[in-house]
Amino acid sequence: MRVLLFGSPGAGKGTQAHMLVHTHGLYHLSTGDMLRAARKARTDIGEKAKSYLAQGRLVPDVLVWKICKDRLDEIGGDRFVLDGYPRTVQQAQWLDAYLEDTVGPPVVISLEVDPNIIVGRLSQRRINRETGESYHLIFQPPPIDVPLEHIIQRKDDRPEAIINRLRIYEEQTRPVKEHYRDLGWLIEIDGVGTIDEVHNRINAALPQVTAPSPERAS
Ligand code: AMP
Repeated sequence: MRVLLFGSPGAGKGTQAHMLVHTHGLYHLSTGDMLRAARKARTDIGEKAKSYLAQGRLVPDVLVWKICKDRLDEIGGDRFVLDGYPRTVQQAQWLDAYLEDTVGPPVVISLEVDPNIIVGRLSQRRINRETGESYHLIFQPPPIDVPLEHIIQRKDDRPEAIINRLRIYEEQTRPVKEHYRDLGWLIEIDGVGTIDEVHNRINAALPQVTAPSPERAS
């Protein structure tokens, strides 16, 4: 099963990707996580991506496709959920050609969430910098045993970067949705509700799958 999870920043792609990893034994490929890891490890791509990440701007297509394709080559299979890629039509075209040559077309799940809800979700989001786990200050606060110094706000979850990310999404990423609608691969899912509710909607929309295999992460 090949799933592309599509949606604006804060639509819940990361959370739902983790759910799919658990229930279907898919590899989780998050380009945001890969780029943040590259930045932390100070690789060539990480250094080049650094300022884009901090400002919430899109990292240039060639760099993101390189990091994504390397990971796809590495897993060498067709059981994955891609989270946060593609974000431009150019990225989508490279991915489509790659999948056509290898494993076949994906299912594209678009998580639909009202922009007003998105701003609230992103500004209340906090991350455990040790585990990458994500929390919502009001609806899913960090457990009390997590040391306070581990809880951080992503630089790109600050108000000025959120506005920037939503503008970029409208201008550059929304056309990707139309691209997949035209191909007939797009499935729109209501992304408002509890994590389980949204997960169940996604599951109901996915093609029937074989027995889950053990959890895999990116
Ligand atoms: P995310 O964790 O998916 O919200 O991504 C965090 C940041 O990583 C984005 O704001 C971009 O700066 C960068 N990024 C992640 N995926 C992509 C992509 N497909 N194209 C360009 N930039 C990306």
